[in-house]
Amino acid sequence: MAECIFCKILAGEIPSKKVYEDDLAYAFHDINPVAPTHILIIPRKHLSGIQEMTEEDRELVGHLFWVARKIAEDLGLSPLGDPTRGYRLVINAGPMAGQTVFHLHLHLLGGREMGWPPG
Ligand code: C5P
Repeated sequence: MAECIFCKILAGEIPSKKVYEDDLAYAFHDINPVAPTHILIIPRKHLSGIQEMTEEDRELVGHLFWVARKIAEDLGLSPLGDPTRGYRLVINAGPMAGQTVFHLHLHLLGGREMGWPPG
């Protein structure tokens, strides 16, 4: 999508700090981190958000979560075997929920203790 900022990041037209990439997904450091680790995992396919997901996107969305889990493990955030560690995965769907960029993205947040419920 021509005017999509994350499509421009995928095309290399806007710089980003890459963490991971494969044929379906790309991950990079959030430009405005709200935790010591704040990474965005996005599909190469443009979807405006999880609200636009269809049945045919089920494997793709599952893949994004698999990538997030892999990155979290690589960064030493996994709570498996160490409950003092952990991370949070977030998808904001729509402006009411805080979505500001309309290309599906999964936030991976970690490196600090987090409260519940989120604001
Ligand atoms: O869920 P939401 O749509 O609010 O998240 C968008 C995220 O994209 C924000 O955390 C923002 O900091 C990030 N962003 C970015 N690089 C850009 C534009 C936005 O990392 N060029």
